[in-house]
Amino acid sequence: MSANTSDVVVIGAGINGASCAWHLASRGLTVTVLERDAAPAMGSTGRSAAGVRVQFTTAANIKLSLYSLPVYREFAERYGWDIGYQDIGYLLLVPGEKWADHLKSVELQQSLGAPVEVLDPAEAQRHIPFATEGLAGATYGPWDGVIDPHMVTHAWVSMGRELGVSYRMNSSVTAIERRSNRWELTSGGETFECEHVVNAAGAWSGEVGRLAGIDVPVGPKRIQIFLSTPIEDTRTYPLTIDLATGVYVRSEGDRVLFGRDDLDQAFGFTEGVDAEWLEHVLLTGVDRFPWWADMGIDLRGSWWGYYGVSPDNSPIIGLHPDADGWVDACGFSGHGIMHAPATGVAVAELIADGKTTTVEVDHFRHTRFGEDVAVEANIF
Ligand SMILES: Cc1cc2nc3c(=O)[nH]c(=O)nc-3n(C[C@H](O)[C@H](O)[C@H](O)COP(=O)(O)OP(=O)(O)OC[C@H]3O[C@@H](n4cnc5c(N)ncnc54)[C@H](O)[C@@H]3O)c2cc1C
Repeated sequence: MSANTSDVVVIGAGINGASCAWHLASRGLTVTVLERDAAPAMGSTGRSAAGVRVQFTTAANIKLSLYSLPVYREFAERYGWDIGYQDIGYLLLVPGEKWADHLKSVELQQSLGAPVEVLDPAEAQRHIPFATEGLAGATYGPWDGVIDPHMVTHAWVSMGRELGVSYRMNSSVTAIERRSNRWELTSGGETFECEHVVNAAGAWSGEVGRLAGIDVPVGPKRIQIFLSTPIEDTRTYPLTIDLATGVYVRSEGDRVLFGRDDLDQAFGFTEGVDAEWLEHVLLTGVDRFPWWADMGIDLRGSWWGYYGVSPDNSPIIGLHPDADGWVDACGFSGHGIMHAPATGVAVAELIADGKTTTVEVDHFRHTRFGEDVAVEANIF
């Protein structure tokens, strides 16, 4: 067994692992990334809906977005990489019973500097056709939109490599031991030693914690996305979510992709696209989007992936209370694309400085579960 030593080992080369690795290397730390797959972004990162938004209900999440979205919007100017950012917006359609609370969250977003517009249903219809029944209004985030998660992950991988980050693909971590004041990780026939481990293993983060004998309360839930055949409307539809049902739809080229999150399911690595769930989504959404009745479905273009879900559907970012030198960056549920820039900078500051100064992540600490903390309502 050969020993490879670095300051930090990051487990996982998804968008968060790649962001953490580059931010850590930017602070002068030596970093090794161990990734089970043959290439970066093959986990949940390559399977998302790619949406980025500021429209959250808790200050903590809004602030992560307010740090992250400008990074994505200006990525090409700042770092010279096109990451496919398109400001197609997020449009939230809000039923009467949720309107008062929703407006409070908009007030919070705006007070923190987030650009969010309040629209009446008729104004919102200029973005996308929908039935207005039961809706009190809509909100639109003009900064919100989509990025290309593969492109941004590969940008951070390349930027990291330029700073000396060692990416080891086909390198599944199979054992983790704490020895004196260092961590020792086994992958293939090799041993990797470091002071800090960053657990960025996405939906597998709970399993990775168990390898080290520590509790990381994150598990997998399958999420499916369906693709239509080409549609006639040439407008680009924003990522539109019907808050009455949780059904969402957005343009993908000349088609739309659509779905509904299924967070009540039990944990498990269930595989495949499920025709029953497709039918359920169509039947749930067709009242709001009557044009779905005539929409063709491209089942071969549809796909599924895993949310890595925490007990409150928000990430765990920070030092583990029971394991020195262990940092989690996982449990993002449906938000790991949009919050990867803030996560990377926070993890780098925690390891290099012992505290964060650029973004606040105390809200996302391990010990919050069971405490009386604000719980995010805009989980999709
Ligand atoms: C259908 C769907 C839609 C989504 N839509 C959005 C959206 O619109 N916006 C948004 O922000 N988020 C969205 N998400 C969530 C988002 O995709 C994830 O939160 C994000 O990709 C997590 O990135 P990550 O880097 O933390 O994890 P991943 O991308 O899953 O990376 C983790 C990596 O760890 C590796 N790994 C695991 N175990 C080991 C091991 N033992 N050894 C070595 N490597 C290991 C895996 O191979 C994987 O590559 C969506 C997710 C899905 C499934």
